Amino acid sequence: MFDHPSFDDHEGVHTFFDAATGLRCVIAVHSTALGPAAGGCRMWNYVTGDAMLTDVLRLSQGMSYKNAMAAIPLGGGKAVIWGDPKAGKSEDLFRAFGRAVQSLNGSYYTAEDVGVSVSDMATVRQETRFVAGLSEGDAASGDPSPVTARGVYLGIREVARRLFGTADLNGRTIAVQGVGSVGGYACDHLAAAGARLIITDIDAEALAAVAKRTGAKIVAPNDIYDVDADIFSPNALGAVVNEKTLARLKVKGIAGGANNQLIVKEMGEFLRRKGILYAPDYVINGGGIINVAAEISGNYSREWVDATLARLIDTLGSVLDEALQSNQPTNYVADRIARSRIAAARPGRLR
Ligand code: NAD
Repeated sequence: MFDHPSFDDHEGVHTFFDAATGLRCVIAVHSTALGPAAGGCRMWNYVTGDAMLTDVLRLSQGMSYKNAMAAIPLGGGKAVIWGDPKAGKSEDLFRAFGRAVQSLNGSYYTAEDVGVSVSDMATVRQETRFVAGLSEGDAASGDPSPVTARGVYLGIREVARRLFGTADLNGRTIAVQGVGSVGGYACDHLAAAGARLIITDIDAEALAAVAKRTGAKIVAPNDIYDVDADIFSPNALGAVVNEKTLARLKVKGIAGGANNQLIVKEMGEFLRRKGILYAPDYVINGGGIINVAAEISGNYSREWVDATLARLIDTLGSVLDEALQSNQPTNYVADRIARSRIAAARPGRLR
């Protein structure tokens, strides 16, 4: 473990096996310096145990950074369950996972992620109260997507402000990839602000619905990288900024809600050299975790969510300004600020 390339001074990496249900799960607590670790539970049919470990180590570190940038009282953690999310689920499996979470005594809060649903989390809740993202219950915060989307919209304005001298999006063209929960709500905000939209998705129904209510122009999924637009907003998949797409993109900025947009961290430097201003994904998409943090506090408040989101967008602005002034990639600046916030909470821990 200590020699693993993705090990980053994680506080705890906990392996669970339950013979009765076949549960194989790892919960990684990267940092509790800022509060209990929080991050979703992913169920995936990993090819090897090492692939599973790499995923949970990286994802939990990413949650530490995201939560630190959102300035919420949460550290970073993540859980992965090894199995097929289509064929391998059972109530007993998620109850066993719930007991694993419970055994960590609140140092880790779980939630849904890829392959895991809100109803699976309701099963987990029967074994532990350290669960968020529920649809029912006293402080349940429900779907975080509208808050994520509002953050994405406000973040696009900040990118525009630095590129064009004004945050006004009236008449600007935004290319939106993915019009699911986050992308769909983001399109509504953008259209209301007078932006011209070019949208794509692999789901024809979702595309038609968003085009109808926003007047967006539709393009084929592979054509979104070539369109004439001011800003590209990825809201579907990860790794969409890579060597191939970089050569095609004509935009001046990238700002969207998708996780892990850059295929590798170094892509941030290539974007900088090409003169594309990139809003680091884990900063601009922090609205959802802010909503979850409000739920974990046990006292959900819309006002607190709004004020915390506004602070996050200010932080995004500071990241963009520092990067522009010092000629650094925006994602490197964000990583440095996140690490220093975590280190300041527990001096001497992070390198
Ligand atoms: P979603 O499933 O509701 O929407 C994703 C959309 O992308 C779907 O409509 C899907 O058809 C489309 N899509 C898939 N492959 C595509 C392709 N090749 N080309 C174009 N479109 C494609 O998911 P979501 O909740 O809106 O999340 C979108 C992204 O934002 C994900 O990367 C997610 O991890 C990230 N994110 C979401 C939240 C949140 O609050 N939901 C918070 C932070 C980050």
